Amino acid sequence: MKALVKETGGPGFVLRDVPEPRIREDEVLIRVRRAGVCGTDVHIYDWDSWASSRCKPPFVVGHEFAGDVVEVGRLVTDVQEGDRVTAEGHIVDGRCLLCRTGNAHVCPFTKIIGVDRDGCFAEYIAMPATNVWHLDDSISYDVGGIHDPMGNAFHTALTAEIPGATVLVTGCGPIGIFAVGICRAAGASRVIASDINPTRLALATQMGAHDAVHPAEAEAVVMRATDKLGVDVVLEMSGAPAAIHQAFALVRVGGRVQMLGIPVKPIEIDLPREVIFKGITIYGVVGRRMYDTWHQMTRFLRAGTFDPTPVITHRFSMSDADAAIAAIKSGDAGKVILEIA
Ligand code: NAD
Ligand code: ZN
Repeated sequence: MKALVKETGGPGFVLRDVPEPRIREDEVLIRVRRAGVCGTDVHIYDWDSWASSRCKPPFVVGHEFAGDVVEVGRLVTDVQEGDRVTAEGHIVDGRCLLCRTGNAHVCPFTKIIGVDRDGCFAEYIAMPATNVWHLDDSISYDVGGIHDPMGNAFHTALTAEIPGATVLVTGCGPIGIFAVGICRAAGASRVIASDINPTRLALATQMGAHDAVHPAEAEAVVMRATDKLGVDVVLEMSGAPAAIHQAFALVRVGGRVQMLGIPVKPIEIDLPREVIFKGITIYGVVGRRMYDTWHQMTRFLRAGTFDPTPVITHRFSMSDADAAIAAIKSGDAGKVILEIA
């Protein structure tokens, strides 16, 4: 089969023929139709210090996908050949304290497809049946293929109390833009989105942001919209130190900051002023809750109150992987997807 492979340490991916994966008895083989490209893939493509310390080439890259089940292991009972599916890309041990107390999203033994084992930028992928998530007939492969980052946004938003809330979303990358739409669908009374990039602010407006502003204007807009209180909830989705400090500054006393964005290096925080004496709650987001987030996501998509399709702005074939990575690096793309079959 054709696959995008991280062949050796060093920049780039190589499109080449590799053997089709062989499934274990508890796994299924999925023919991949759509795959999402994300920042993690860019790190692996560039072979930065994170990628070179974590990944062991050669391996097939990619972790966001949807497709059809074409083969089912002997021990699999609830997935059938022909099922339309996506999958949770974090493969957990299922046995540790975290997994057995409903917190598998922070399982310390997690292996991620396309990072720690072969991924989905390929014609076929083998997945444990327990990670498979069925798609309703009404959900397209495009939308199935972006369940992973959309799930990040659902997790971040819905572990806060959104109904009636005033919300600031800092960072309108694909995940931030999804979060804007999710907060609207979940009944936020005011959604303010900030980014330094006008193209992305336009996407945030399209997804329903009441205000989409440059960070320099965010304070004034927040204070005007909240009787100078600050917002009830901030979803920090940029990882930029300036945005993180702004999140603490603009959340109201007693409010909540949901932290998804990953700063590239340690940052200094004035804990008494920014956190403790404001009495705020900080929640660190890892991936998607298994499988609360997935159920919530499916229900919102079924209800039709949240439509993620405007976020998909670019599509490429596997042979155009360089262009797909360049589109992400331009900073102007929403979600970039690969059409595989
Ligand atoms: P992205 O890099 O495409 O988006 C980040 C956005 O933040 C960009 O549009 C950028 O212009 C904007 N930004 C930069 N400085 C800003 C500022 N001062 N104020 C407001 N916005 C600013 O990223 P993405 O793919 O949407 O992911 C968002 C973040 O979440 C990244 O940091 C990513 O590494 C992280 N992430 C975390 C998890 C997790 O499980 N915690 C999972 C996936 C991604
Ligand atoms: Zn575990």
